[in-house]
Amino acid sequence: MLTTHPLSPPEIVTTAVPDDERIWVPQAKDVWFRPLMLNTLNGGWCNLLRVRKAGVLSRHRHPGPVHGYVIKGSWRYLEHDWVARAGDYVFEPPGETHTLTVESADEMITFFNISGCMYYVDAEGNHTGFEDVFTKIDMCRKHYIEVGLGAGFVDQFIR
Ligand code: FE
Repeated sequence: MLTTHPLSPPEIVTTAVPDDERIWVPQAKDVWFRPLMLNTLNGGWCNLLRVRKAGVLSRHRHPGPVHGYVIKGSWRYLEHDWVARAGDYVFEPPGETHTLTVESADEMITFFNISGCMYYVDAEGNHTGFEDVFTKIDMCRKHYIEVGLGAGFVDQFIR
């Protein structure tokens, strides 16, 4: 007989690409993320990234590993010669610094499992900002209040 560990939090099962547009949290103009699992226990998060513009999105360094799965569209890193397309899996090793670029304004949606933080840098590698699970939670909470879903809406994704 299967039992549930008393300390084990409940699973999260949700429609990844949501029907309700308000669930997408604006990241920048024509860029959104959709939280799926905000992990405050090991410091990381799973989300969908949606982009509807062409061009450079950010240059960033990963202190921890990232796993990606492209659901729709395509993207690349300027530092590499491959293109991640719908159906592709991408592993980004710790220590990588790269420049996320989308070459078509057609919609791109990618699932990312990000450990630690996104450490943003400029062209010279100077630190310009960061995101971690806590800044993500704050962004979600602020947005969900603004769109009427309420401050507690993000809590369902937090563990
Ligand atoms: Fe990256």
